[in-house]
Amino acid sequence: MATAKVAIAPMKVVQVPKPGADFQIVEREIPKPGAGHVRIKVQACGVCHSDALTKDGSWPGIQYPRVPGHEVAGVIDELGDGVAEWRKGQRVGVGWHGGHDGTCLQCRRGDFANCRNLEVAGISYDGGYQQYMVAPVEALTAMPDTLSDSEAAPLLCAGITTFNALRHSGARPDDLVAVLGIGGLGHLGIQFANKFGYKVVAIGRGAENAPLAKKLGASVYIDNKVTNAAEELQKLGGAQVILATAPSSKAMSELIDGLAPNGKLMVIGVAFEPIEVTPIQLISGSRTIQGWVSGTPTDAEDTLRFAELTGVRPMIETYPLEKAEEAYARMMSGNAQFRVVLTM
Ligand SMILES: [Zn+2]
Ligand SMILES: [Zn+2]
Repeated sequence: MATAKVAIAPMKVVQVPKPGADFQIVEREIPKPGAGHVRIKVQACGVCHSDALTKDGSWPGIQYPRVPGHEVAGVIDELGDGVAEWRKGQRVGVGWHGGHDGTCLQCRRGDFANCRNLEVAGISYDGGYQQYMVAPVEALTAMPDTLSDSEAAPLLCAGITTFNALRHSGARPDDLVAVLGIGGLGHLGIQFANKFGYKVVAIGRGAENAPLAKKLGASVYIDNKVTNAAEELQKLGGAQVILATAPSSKAMSELIDGLAPNGKLMVIGVAFEPIEVTPIQLISGSRTIQGWVSGTPTDAEDTLRFAELTGVRPMIETYPLEKAEEAYARMMSGNAQFRVVLTM
């Protein structure tokens, strides 16, 4: 007996076949969402430095081939069983927080961001470098209508991280807040800090960054290539918060003496070398060093709504999905202005 074959249109997927390998563009069948999951027609996906974890295999336990991408903007086009609170056609995003178990001790305490079994899109399961992806409902962020897909995508990782770190930093309107680094994170951090009502000091390398930093909302620019930034901050009274976005432990260490009494160094730039600080630097002035991980999908919704309200937007360079290799290389070069986004 002849079997009737049902033709299913394939989709285009950019996958990492094994750690350290080049991207491969392959065709796969469009996946079906299981219970508690939705399928998203991806419209845009940001290319984040953390995608290197998947590309290089530096995150333990990744199963290959794997599709990277955790800055996903798209539209729900299929609901799995038991999904009642989301609808087909709804615009959604998926960021770093790709799902939590709801059962570990941290989840039972309501601290989903620190779930012991946190899932990450593009690491734990296939992410947004493809035309369709499947995500658990715990990962979904509802998207405001006025934000375009390619502008919303970077806000789901770079945006939420800067927004959430600042709003939990303890800084109040009119406080002096410094943002170290004017890059993918920093250019958003400066904008959020300005809209939060802080007096914003941007710290970057080279005088050429000054006009952009001012345009983004900094009232003071410090070039730490030619000046001692900590001394400059002290001349302004000291920083209540320094949002350290540049992935340089050395630059972070050099700024600790620029903190005001009770000031805090908020660390979000990912680096592997130790930050150097003496106990006396922390004790005098009761200073703090704190790290911050991005946040939950509801934090992402707050970020998007705040961006919608205040006009904070990422500066982006877009590439078609087929040019993922080129887009990734551009992001890794550090020369992108400032976030690279794949469009479908
Ligand atoms: Zn990211
Ligand atoms: Zn948990």
